[in-house]
Parts: sequence; C-alpha cells; structure tokens
Amino acid sequence: MLDRLGDFKRDYYCGELTENNIGDEVRLLGWAESVRDHGGVLFINLRDIEGVVQVVFDPSLTPKEVYEKAKKIRSEYVIGVKGRVQRRPAGTENPKLRTGNIEVAVDELKILNTCDVLPFQIEDNIKVHEETRLKFRYLDLRRRSMLNKLLLRHEVYQATREYLAGNGFLEVETPMLTKSTPEGARDFLVPARLEKGKFYALPQSPQLFKQILMVGAIERYFQIVKCFRDEDLRKDRQPEFTQIDFEMSFVDEEDVISISEGLIHYIFKKVMGIELKLPFRRMTYEEAMNRYGTDKPDVRYGLELKDITDLAKQVEFKVFRETAEKEGLVKGLNIKGGAEFSRKEIDDLTEYAKKFGAKGMAWIKVQEGGELQSPITKFFKEEELSKLTEKMEAEKGDLLVFIADKPETTHRVLGFLRKHVAEKLNIIPEGRWDFLWITDFPLVEWDEEEQRLVALHHPFTSPKEEDLDRIDEAIADKKVALGFKSRAYDLVLNGEEIGGGSIRIHRPDIQQKVFELLGIPDEEAREKFGFLIDALKYGAPPHGGLAFGLDRILALLTDSESIRDVIAFPKTQKGICPLTEAPDYVKEEQLEELGIEVEIEEEKEG
Ligand code: ASP
Repeated sequence: MLDRLGDFKRDYYCGELTENNIGDEVRLLGWAESVRDHGGVLFINLRDIEGVVQVVFDPSLTPKEVYEKAKKIRSEYVIGVKGRVQRRPAGTENPKLRTGNIEVAVDELKILNTCDVLPFQIEDNIKVHEETRLKFRYLDLRRRSMLNKLLLRHEVYQATREYLAGNGFLEVETPMLTKSTPEGARDFLVPARLEKGKFYALPQSPQLFKQILMVGAIERYFQIVKCFRDEDLRKDRQPEFTQIDFEMSFVDEEDVISISEGLIHYIFKKVMGIELKLPFRRMTYEEAMNRYGTDKPDVRYGLELKDITDLAKQVEFKVFRETAEKEGLVKGLNIKGGAEFSRKEIDDLTEYAKKFGAKGMAWIKVQEGGELQSPITKFFKEEELSKLTEKMEAEKGDLLVFIADKPETTHRVLGFLRKHVAEKLNIIPEGRWDFLWITDFPLVEWDEEEQRLVALHHPFTSPKEEDLDRIDEAIADKKVALGFKSRAYDLVLNGEEIGGGSIRIHRPDIQQKVFELLGIPDEEAREKFGFLIDALKYGAPPHGGLAFGLDRILALLTDSESIRDVIAFPKTQKGICPLTEAPDYVKEEQLEELGIEVEIEEEKEG
C-alpha cells in the first residue's frame, strides 16, 4: 500500500544538508537512488534536485514497522523520510558526496510511489543507446549530468534576458503559425482548417517579423525563440532549435557587433565565471577562405592552407598546371610529422578528401634524410620541387598534401581535411574560447542547381554602401554582382558558427532591386514577402540584427557531443521523438476536417 503525501512537507533539499544540520530533525522527499543492505542496516541514497544524502535504517534503532517498510524500497521509489541528521561514523565518510560526512537516521517513512525495473541506471557515464535514453527521457533527465545541462541552459536564458532587457531591448513574441520565411530551408507546413487548401508555415526564423517590429518603431527587440527548418538531419541539426534573436534600429555593424559581444561576455561571466577578452578578433570572408578554406575557421591551431597556384602554372605536372590555367586553385597543407603516416593512412586521407568532392589528393613526404617520397615528384623538375617545398615551408618529417580543383572545391576539401588532420594529430588545444567575427561576405553566390544568383545570407541583407550605386550594373552583369560585398557578419567560436546577422535593406526601392538581382520575379516577391515590401514603404528606419544559435552555444559550453544533449526533448537524426513517437498518423476524421487526402505509398518488397 502506498502512503499519501498528506501534509508532509520537506524541510530541506537532500543536497542542501550540511554538518551544521547535525542534530536537526528533518523531513526530506525524493527518489531512492540505491538501496544497500550492510548486515541488516539499510542505506539509501536519497536524491532530489539539489543532490543526494544518505539515509539509514538500523534495525536496532529504527522503529520496527518503519524498518520493515524500508525493506520494500527499490531503486527510484519515491519516498519521504523524517529523521535526525548525524555525523557518519569515522571511516565511513564519502568524500565524493557533498553531504558525505553526514547521514539521516530515519524514524518515519512514506513510500509515495513505486518504480518499474529501470531500462538503465540513473547514473552518469552510462553506455546506453541514445534512442533508449530519449524514449525514457524522464529517467535520463534524472541523471546529474543531464540536469546540470538543463540548469546551465536555464541560467543562459536568465543572463540573456538580464543583459538585453538591461540594454533597452523589448522581449516580443512573434507568431509560430505564419507564412513561409526566407532562410532558404524547407518549411514545415500546418494545414489551415478554416481556409481549406491553405497552409501556415512554421517560421524558419522571426526574420520578417523582427524587421517589421523595427518599422513598428520598437527600436530594440529580442526573443528566445524556436525556429523550424525541415532539412536533412545528417549533421548535428534539429528540425526545431532555439535562437537568441535580436534586432535594432538606427545602427550600423559596429553597434550590433558590440551588443553581441556584450551579451556573450555577460553570459560567459555570469554562467561560467569566465572573463572573455573583448573585442573579439575579426577576419574578412576572403581571408578566412584563403587561409582556412572555410568561413568558420577554427583558429585554435595553425595548419593553414598554402597557395601554390602561381607555381603550378609553370610546372609540367598536368593536374596542377591545367587546373591553375583554368582559373582553378592549387593549394596544400603542410602536415607536421605526417611523413610517419603509413600508405594506408594517406589513402584514408585521400578517401576523406573525395567525400568532399576532390577528384584526388597529391602528396609528398619529406623523409628524415630530406629526400622526397611521392608518386608525383617524377613529373617535376628539380628546381620546381625546390620551389614547391620552399613555398610549403617543408621540413624533414612533413607530409605535404595538395588539392587542385575549382576554387570552391579546393577550399571546401582542404577546409575539411585541415580539421580532420588536426583531430587525428590531436593538436587542437583544449580549454580555449577562440571567438572570431567573419565580415565582408559576398552578397550573392552562383547557384549551379538553380542557375541563378542566390543571397549568401538572406535577401534582406544590405549590400555595402559603396555598391549601392552599381546595382543596375550588377543586374545586367552577374560578374559585377559576384564582386559585391554584403553588410553581414557571423560569429564563430572554436570553428563553429554560433551566430549571424546583418544590416538590412530598409529602403523599398533597394529591396526591389535586390530581388531583381536575385532573379526573384516581382509577382513571386510580392506573393512571398509583399507585406515586408509594403512595410518598408511606411517609414522603415535603418536597422540590423543578429541571431545566436542557443543550442550550439550550450553544446560548446557543456562540452556535449551533440546539441541533442542540451535540449530537453530533442528529435533523433531521423526527426523522430522516441518519447511521444511523433510524427504520427492522424485519424481519418481529422484529415477530412482539413480537406486533406493522404496517399501512402506501400513500401515495395525488394
Ligand atoms: N534570421 C537570420 C538567421 O536565422 C539571422 C539574422 O539575420 O538576424 O540566420
């Protein structure tokens, strides 16, 4: 028979008790973590949100009926105890526990609920399939390591609100049932019952609404907000994720960057006790691509890309020369100590490079004696080789690897190779927070698939002032457009993009031109973003903002392998919630009400 809680109230949290409580009579509530029987004396670690304390049932001291009842307690039963705090007998202290010097001798016990046999133990460092953890998330969350992540997340929310509200930002909610927004991913759609055949889209971000709030003269807006993007979840992504989103009026890049840095500084100080050095470093997009092959470089280590395109133009080795002649890029990495890699390890690197689109990877080992070992050196003249090794700053023991391809491919492949090699060689220093702003992004890039220019950030990002007068020229000649820079900025932390934003277009005439530049026909622009274009006509102030990816920041702060670990109820890689089993089929009547017919293709055998 279970006991009723009645008017039993806790006096303390378990984890709160200290030696100062010795002699006190206390009532505690929580979960029985483990039940140990030492020669008849029962020890239970009682756990609540604040921690654990040991409670004791001693057959020679505990009232008999209480002791008998205690024998029924199993792992994760919910219990209440009343008892006296005492010092643990000398030699039985547990230094690993904050309350390890004390225990509670129980004289009253309530068993409030039982617990089925557990699918896994409630302890840190368990080896359990993630799907099982997610299915039993309520048990998973009882583990201290998970609780700590939620606590930290909570603290980051509070710090964010303190800082932004303290700087005059107004917290405003924007709708979840809305129209398609412009981040460029696939939308999640919600059928509208009252307007059959029509759909709401879940917002990919509050982008349009925050801009409209600026037109609404709100001046400074922020929101901790869910965003939805129906993307393939191959990487560490979630279909719904959280942003710290803000927007400001009458500002330029420096203002947005300064508030962003202030916020990050405040969060790190308040939540982690870390004093970051401001301002953060900055690097242009171009420099980042050239030196690291990516617009989110991890600058905690070197291993920078070296450009040998000029040299490649003059060599006989065809792969290099022809690429260089065709406006491609030939670049390499000097992997220190890489001469020790086995043939198999080099083959693995080549395979890795191919995964990112390389056709092959050339390599040269500089052996201990100084001689070069490589399948390609035979295609080089002596002096070409010495120029090459000089350019690569090669020394004994190095492995030089090269990619020759279209600029985007060379950069992409080497960017990933660089990271892969750094991990393999274990040269990434720990305990560092290397922030880096990336600025001066191109406004547009060429989309091969769609055969048109697309915005690198989003179509509401302002071009640089100096390019504004040349928009007509750029509309006529896409080469000109490809040279345009935008007023966007990203913040990178240890090689991960944690935030991004821009100064927006606030003039309707310029917005229209940029749509034209992007090949978005008038009707399409009107249909999708007409309300924003209209709003810009009614006195839109110059404005700009940024959004931080909160989950990603938390994963970095807590050193979590996946952002799933910092989200209370995340989805799996397949977009499934193992706890609720969403997404799920719905009743026929529900579909009828919505005027929707679903055809499910039977999976074909074989
Ligand atoms: N809405 C943008 C995003 O979600 C951020 C911004 O431009 O403020 O990436």
